Amino acid sequence: MGIFDFKLPKFKPYSFGSRKGSKRTLGKRDRDILYLRAKCRCESCNKRISQPEMEVGHRKAYSKGGATTLANSACLCHTCNKLQGTESLETLKKKLSGRYGKRPKSPRQRKKKSSSSFNIRDFI
Ligand SMILES: [Zn+2]
Repeated sequence: MGIFDFKLPKFKPYSFGSRKGSKRTLGKRDRDILYLRAKCRCESCNKRISQPEMEVGHRKAYSKGGATTLANSACLCHTCNKLQGTESLETLKKKLSGRYGKRPKSPRQRKKKSSSSFNIRDFI
């Protein structure tokens, strides 16, 4: 037994504050840090946003087990956050760059010529 036996409490970054269960949003303090870390820009489309505009997205989708931690969060604008939905940030970025998967082949819609031969100009 010595004077050096006592243990310092481990400092856990970002673990203080209320953290009950699996929350989906960051605390105000974490949001502040996130916003500054992103240099006041949307991390997806790089648009400059104001802090009240900032929305917190998940790098790894929440639905895929991504934790709501500062490390897993991304600073997004409203548009990108909406676009992201429940997907991961990487998926969103691919979406934005237009390289997301194969484009679904839409059946060619033939432009139907209006079958009516009625033309208003004939009557003017
Ligand atoms: Zn954006």
